[in-house]
Amino acid sequence: MVSEAEKIQKKTSCEHQAECMKMVQLIVDGQASDEQINQFKLNMSTCLPCEKGYELEKCIKETMQLRLERKSVPVSLIDCIKQKISML
Ligand SMILES: [Zn+2]
Repeated sequence: MVSEAEKIQKKTSCEHQAECMKMVQLIVDGQASDEQINQFKLNMSTCLPCEKGYELEKCIKETMQLRLERKSVPVSLIDCIKQKISML
């Protein structure tokens, strides 16, 4: 059963992916302005590669943060990254 929301067609290729990925980096590094974040989120809702890229970067960032703090990385986070990579 597919919900109405999931029927919205997302772009499967991004014509501005290089810029999108730069923006993703800014956001996960906490260097993007609120306006930039809002703009990217809007774009992400219509653009599949951007959404995937963002989720992957976010998982990687979290993992690196935990490593820096010398905390153990939860298996769920590792699985998340593996899953995201296999979907690319
Ligand atoms: Zn895009």
